[in-house]
Amino acid sequence: MNVADSELVAGLLERSGYQRTHELCDAQVILLNTCAIREKAEETVHNRLDRLAALKAGNPSILIGVLGCMAKNLADSLLESKPYVDLILGPDSYRRLPEVLQHRQTDPSTYVDTRLSRWEVYDQLLPYRQSGVNAWISIMRGCDKFCTFCVVPFTRGRERSRSIESIIAEAEDAARQGFREITLLGQNVNSYHNGDTRFPDLLQAVAAVPGIRRIRYTSPHPSDVNDHLLEVMASHDNICKSIHLPLQAGADRILKRMHRDYTQADYCALVDRIRAAMPECTLSTDLIVGFPAETEPEFQATLEVVERVGFDTAFTFKYSTRPGTKAAEYTDQVAEAVKQERLERLIQLQKRITLERNRTHVGSVAEVLVEKESKKSTAQWAGRTDGNHWVVFDKQNVHIGDFVAVRIDSTHGIALQGHIATSEEAYHALA
Ligand code: SAH
Ligand code: SF4
Repeated sequence: MNVADSELVAGLLERSGYQRTHELCDAQVILLNTCAIREKAEETVHNRLDRLAALKAGNPSILIGVLGCMAKNLADSLLESKPYVDLILGPDSYRRLPEVLQHRQTDPSTYVDTRLSRWEVYDQLLPYRQSGVNAWISIMRGCDKFCTFCVVPFTRGRERSRSIESIIAEAEDAARQGFREITLLGQNVNSYHNGDTRFPDLLQAVAAVPGIRRIRYTSPHPSDVNDHLLEVMASHDNICKSIHLPLQAGADRILKRMHRDYTQADYCALVDRIRAAMPECTLSTDLIVGFPAETEPEFQATLEVVERVGFDTAFTFKYSTRPGTKAAEYTDQVAEAVKQERLERLIQLQKRITLERNRTHVGSVAEVLVEKESKKSTAQWAGRTDGNHWVVFDKQNVHIGDFVAVRIDSTHGIALQGHIATSEEAYHALA
């Protein structure tokens, strides 16, 4: 979401005559787009700001701005502890950025605007996309679900959705620019509704945009996944068969205290419906350990669901207290050492399951969209399968943006290793 928001801001500044630089020391304006979801994300920003303070001490004309969720959440403390910050703009105030930068030329006081809007969806504001194969398209903003652990409803405000026309226009534009894949984005992407248009209708309309070979979406909320959505996914080849389905916890009492409006049984039944509709669909999830009052048996309920579902991957987090949220007021917080120990057990379990699931792909041929150079070797590409698995393989004569048939040879952890399939291998895989 923040990558997409940064592209939006970059587009806005480009059109106002600013130029992007990749060299920090060349920049006259440095904006940090921040996340407040967990304490660790905030610490990262504080550290970055401290480093920028040193840069600014050497060149006081640089303007430093804090954008996004931390700006909204921590404006007062930032003003106090980081006086060198020139502007603080919340997630709904980006349109004002060119004007604010102008204003800052003549007025040296810190500019703060963290008001949240009920309407701002940044329609008609085309992002400046980083080159690549995937275009992020933000379709809705905010969240009305108020999970008790989560700061998002406070930092990003009420839920609102863009018009289908502007989203389709943006998807067509991305296709014209050569993007092969689109990822629809929203805090609760499938809560999307605009007039009578619901998320499955929108997904179907995006699938009809010529030139888009792959469509993904993130993050959906389990309670908003319905049969219509599964039908639309199952009936379109260009909608990837991969769902990120945040579970958070396995025990019903914890789910209730989290204000997640499903039970363990609801979630497992949903997984069964997904697999019945699309047997090949991959699943990933988000899990929180050590939510206030979580007991050892309740943590084990999370492990049991993880084992039962067999997620392809999982993003695992220690519960992090977010001031202002309901769960921060709970008095029965879990000790840090217990959270750490549970996290490690959960990671171990998921590692084993990921490896087991990945091994089932060894020997198969997968269609891979070439996305970037592998981090480990300049002689290899990395790309993803429809099911969102990363595959690494020797470059040969294919290019970024190509779709290639890759034979999967091995897997050691999260990624798969393979080679570009010979025509014989590809033929046998299809037969
Ligand atoms: N809207 C999505 C999730 C968005 S936040 C959903 O409801 O499913 C991304 C993930 O961050 C969450 O799924 C959750 O696992 C994690 N998260 C959010 N707040 C957290 C907190 N206070 N501590 C630890 N993890 C948190
Ligand atoms: Fe946060 Fe997601 Fe819950 Fe909304 S639905 S409050 S974004 S975890």
